Amino acid sequence: MAPDLVAGLREAMPIAIGTLALDRPGTGLVIVDEVNGFATVGAGNLAPPVPNAQVGRMVVETNRLARSFSGRGWKILAFLDTHVPGKPEPPYPPHCEQGSGEEELVPELTWLESDPHTTLVRKDCINGFVGAIAGDGRNRIVDWVNANRLSAILVVGICTDICVMDFVLTTLSARNHDLMPTLKEIIVHEPGCATFDLPRATAEKLGYGATASHPQEATHHMGLYFMASRGARIVGEVRLPAWSLGSPAAGRRSRQGLRRRPGARRRGPDPGRG
Ligand SMILES: [Zn+2]
Repeated sequence: MAPDLVAGLREAMPIAIGTLALDRPGTGLVIVDEVNGFATVGAGNLAPPVPNAQVGRMVVETNRLARSFSGRGWKILAFLDTHVPGKPEPPYPPHCEQGSGEEELVPELTWLESDPHTTLVRKDCINGFVGAIAGDGRNRIVDWVNANRLSAILVVGICTDICVMDFVLTTLSARNHDLMPTLKEIIVHEPGCATFDLPRATAEKLGYGATASHPQEATHHMGLYFMASRGARIVGEVRLPAWSLGSPAAGRRSRQGLRRRPGARRRGPDPGRG
């Protein structure tokens, strides 16, 4: 870990992190790849080898937002990275192969599979917008946004600087290209995003080489910076009528509240699953 690196990035490349108040329908929640293969400890080549605070926070934030959206009848779309067994996705080692279990939602989010407001989209490449192109050329993201006349999408998921970023950047271009006439804003919820941690020393020790270095906090910041610089809005708190979601402090308070709410099945903030 190099906290001076992160502090230097924050100083040289600051990001404005705001608050999102959602008081009316029209925003859809997009969840990127919160599957076992990326977010459940020890679940595969690209899963965290040990519990990871940033990944754990992402799952908690995502579950809270998703339950809130679903409870209001608001639309959710979840990407699930899924690959044909044996078919590589360079430059990555095998991951999320069909039938392995890695390609399924993390335990906290499997309820989305039967949620009437949720659309599941399996994708076989980093960029969900590209992965959503069907055999007939239609794009499931474009169709979802247009069918629901969404004015904004709120994005969470993993990895901030890989699948989340590629989806957000491409969707910004698609919006500017007028593929989704009602879509005004693409918003990224920072505490709902996470990336993986591979410090340089670990990358070298494992034989991946120095260039595989991927320090978590720095690359998380870089992903957010590039999304913001292309026109995405970054938020650290999402306020919804009736209760508040978002900031770590408010989050702790509202998590207590959520625990008492009937139907709020959720695990604690400690990423001790699996
Ligand atoms: Zn993949």
